[in-house]
Amino acid sequence: MKSKYLILGFVMMVSCTAKSPMKSDESAPKGVQQAAALWTEEDGSQADFDQMVADYYCQTDSERFVLFESLSRIFENIYQSADMLTVELLRPTQLTDASEPQAPDWIMSGYSPLAHFSDDMFANKLAFITIMNFPHYSLEEKNTLGRHWTRQEWAYARMGDVFTTRVPAQVNTRMAQALADAENYIADYNIYMDNLRTEDGRQIWPDGKVLLSHWNLRDELKALYYEWSAERGELNEKQEMIYQVMQRIVNQTIPQEAVNNPDYVWQPYAIAENTESEPYTRYQKILDIAHAYMAEDAYCPSMPTGIIRNFEGGVEIPADELDSLFRALVGSKQVSIVASVIRERLGRDLRPYDIWYDGFKARASLDEDELTEQTSRLYPHASAFAADMPRLLEKMGFTPMKSKEIASHIAVEPARGSGHAWPCLGRKEDARLRTRIAPTGMDYKGYNIAVHEFGHCVEQVLDMYFIDHYMLSGVPNTAYTEASAFLWQQRDLQLLPKSPITNQQSQMSNNEVFDNFWSMYEIMGVSLVDMAMWQWIYAHPKATAKELCEATQEIAKDVWNRYYEPVLGEHDCILLAVYSHMVNAPMYLPNYPLGHIVQYQLEEHLAQYANQQDFAAEYARIYKLGRLTPKQWMIEAVGEAPSIEPILRAVDKLCEATQNQ
Ligand SMILES: [Zn+2]
Repeated sequence: MKSKYLILGFVMMVSCTAKSPMKSDESAPKGVQQAAALWTEEDGSQADFDQMVADYYCQTDSERFVLFESLSRIFENIYQSADMLTVELLRPTQLTDASEPQAPDWIMSGYSPLAHFSDDMFANKLAFITIMNFPHYSLEEKNTLGRHWTRQEWAYARMGDVFTTRVPAQVNTRMAQALADAENYIADYNIYMDNLRTEDGRQIWPDGKVLLSHWNLRDELKALYYEWSAERGELNEKQEMIYQVMQRIVNQTIPQEAVNNPDYVWQPYAIAENTESEPYTRYQKILDIAHAYMAEDAYCPSMPTGIIRNFEGGVEIPADELDSLFRALVGSKQVSIVASVIRERLGRDLRPYDIWYDGFKARASLDEDELTEQTSRLYPHASAFAADMPRLLEKMGFTPMKSKEIASHIAVEPARGSGHAWPCLGRKEDARLRTRIAPTGMDYKGYNIAVHEFGHCVEQVLDMYFIDHYMLSGVPNTAYTEASAFLWQQRDLQLLPKSPITNQQSQMSNNEVFDNFWSMYEIMGVSLVDMAMWQWIYAHPKATAKELCEATQEIAKDVWNRYYEPVLGEHDCILLAVYSHMVNAPMYLPNYPLGHIVQYQLEEHLAQYANQQDFAAEYARIYKLGRLTPKQWMIEAVGEAPSIEPILRAVDKLCEATQNQ
C-alpha cells in the first residue's frame, strides 16, 4: 500500500547538480556548497547568490532552530493541503459515498497539486534557503553519523532531503508517460483461458474465464491446489498449462493475437507455424522506462543511476545489500527442509510452479462461513467498523484513552475498488482506511484485509500525531508500514469479540511460518531477477528489446539454476521473470520480501512482551521512531540491522519441534 514516503518521494530523493555558474568554494559550509551546485544562471548572478547567503544563512543554532520550525510548518501545510485536495478530487472515482464519477472527475484524477511545487520553491528561493541551512546527507552518512545524532539532528537531516533534485519538468513528464504506458499495457494483458487448448485439442477452462497476467494466472494456479480432486501425486494439467503460458509471456513466443483477445483460440504447447509472436513489447516498455531514468541521470550526479536513486535514495538500502540478504535466504539449508514438507504433502516431485504452493494456509481448519457470520453481523457497513476501532485497539493492549485517541484520527470510507490505506500527511488530516463491504455485510476475507489496512492506519497515526518532529513523520520505507499491517492482520481472529482462538494461538502457527518462508523464497527470487535485469540494462544502455528479452531470460535461468533447480527441478527455467511488476513498477518487487523480513524481526522482538499492555506499549514506541534510515530504525527498534536470521530461526525451531514429535 501507499506510504507517505512514496508521496514525498518525488521531492526528496537525490542530490543533483544543474549547470551552475558558481565558483565552487570548498571552505563554505556543506549546505552553502550544495545550494551553489543547484543555482543556475536563471536564478541570478554570483552576487545575488552571495547576498542570499548573507541574508539567510543562519549564524547560530537558535536561529537555525527557528528556521527549522518555520519550514516544518510550511511543509506540513503544503503536503497536507495538497493531499486533502487530491483526496477530494479522487472521491468520486475511488469511493462509493460520492456522486457517480463524471468526465471531469476522471480528468482530474490524474492531476497532481504538487507537480510544480519544487519549481516554485526554487523560483522563490525557499529551496535554496532550506538547502544551505539543512544540508543533504548521503545514505552512508546517515547510517554512520546518524548513529550519534539526536532526534533533532535527524529531523534536520530529513529537512535536507526535501530539495536536492532539480530535474526539468519535461524530463519528469517523460518518466510519468513511460510509467503510464507500461501500466496500461499490463492492465490489458488478459489471457482468455477458455481459448486455450490442450495438445489433444480440449478446452479445460469454462467459457468466460479471463485471467490478467501475472496476478490472476498465479492466483488461479494457487487455487488449484485446493480445487483439484485428482489422486495425490499426480500433476494437474491446468497448473501445467498456466506454467506453459507464463513461459511464453516471458520469452515472448506468445502469439500477438492471444493477448487480450476473446476470439483467438490457441495451443500453448504447440504454436502453429507462421504465427506472429508478440514483438518484445514487454521489454520495450521496460526500456522506455529505463531511457526515462537515463534522461534524469544527467541532473543527478551524486546518485547517477535510476538504480542508485531507487535503492539508496528511495528504499534507503543499497541494492547490493538487499541482494546479499535475499541470496542468504534463498540459498539457506531451510529451503530444502520446507521443500521436503511440500513434497510429502503433494506426494510427488516438485515442479517449478510449486514456488506458489499454497497448501500451508493455516486457517483452513477454521470454518470460514462461521467467521463470515460473525464479521458480517459486526460490520454491516463502513461506519460500524469505524465505531469498533477503539475496541480493536484495546484488545491489542492500548489503554482505553489511547485507543479512543488513535481511532479518532482514522476515517473509514467505502471503497469502489479493493481495500487500501491512505496515509495522512499532516495533523489536520485523518489516516484513511478504505474498505469494500457487500450489502450483506463484511465477509471474513474482507475483515482480514480491513485489519491489514487498519495496521497501516495505526502506524500512520502513531508516527504523525505522536511524533516529536514533523520532518520525521512516517516510516523508513514501504516495507516498514507493511510490517505493521502484517502484524495486525496476523492477529485478526484474536481481535474478534468471539475469538475462535486463544491469545497463545494467535502467535504465528507452524503452517504460517512455513507459508511465509516459502513465499519469501519465491518473491526473493523474483526480486533478484528484477534487480539483476536493471544492472544489465544500465550496463547495456543501447540494448534493443529483443536483446533485453534474451538477457532477462539468462538472468532468470542463472538465479533458477543456482537456488531453485536443486529443489524444484528443471534446468534453465525462466519462470521467475513473469511478474508484471517488472514492467510497470521498476525495482519495486524487493519491497515485498523486505516487509516480511521486518515483520519477523518485530515479531521475534515483540514476543518477549507476554503482557498485552506491554506489547502495545513496545509496538507504539517502535512506530514512533519515524523516518530514520531502515538500518537505524531497526537498530533502535530491536537492537540489530535488518536480518533474515529471525525467519530462519523460526523455521529451524519448527523443524526441531516436528522431529521431536
Ligand atoms: Zn499493505
